Amino acid sequence: MAESTRPMLQLPHQAHKLLLHSCCAPCSGEVMEALGASGIDYTIFFYNPNIHPQREYQIRKEENIRFAQKHRVPFVDADYDSDNWFARARGMEQEPERGIRCTMCFDMRFERTALHAFEQGFSIISSSLGISRWKNMQQINDCGKRAAARYPGITYWDYNWRKQGGSSRMIEISKRERFYQQEYCGCIYSLRDSNRHRKSQGRDIIRIGMTYYGDADE
Ligand code: SF4
Repeated sequence: MAESTRPMLQLPHQAHKLLLHSCCAPCSGEVMEALGASGIDYTIFFYNPNIHPQREYQIRKEENIRFAQKHRVPFVDADYDSDNWFARARGMEQEPERGIRCTMCFDMRFERTALHAFEQGFSIISSSLGISRWKNMQQINDCGKRAAARYPGITYWDYNWRKQGGSSRMIEISKRERFYQQEYCGCIYSLRDSNRHRKSQGRDIIRIGMTYYGDADE
């Protein structure tokens, strides 16, 4: 890993610690290593009640826990209140990815992250979500800032994790660690839409727990 290509990171407002919302190990791998390389003290906050089915949720979470343990980073395992997520998604089942259902989904995850930060004395929050090129970074940043604004003294750090090679290091780390390669964003509706797309191309539907980074290279 070419550490020299990574920028030296500094938290906003000269803060000394960060609460990092993580969606999964592949997205947070580069973010975690970049933070570590800059000597930033951070804690992982795993709150993703959108992920369906629960087996997929467990695989993503356990992999993230393993990687956090490897780097000796504290990991907060928050609730899997999927009933609450489904209640908030009602009426948005047919929305496309990057639409209003996703705004709700990011809002929900960041609201809990900001609450935990407020209760536990963190002043800065951020997320690994924005490193994925599938996501709308502006949408994510807006949701993060909205959640942070609910509590005094909390700032959402909208650092662009993709830049200066972040996106390629994300893939490099995922292959090095042989992370589980999830094949859809996370919710039941993204699973449905990904499978529809695959079927339209004559491809097999997604099989949970089967694909790992690096498999395709072998
Ligand atoms: S597509 Fe992804 S971001 Fe959008 S609602 Fe589903 S899990 Fe959340």
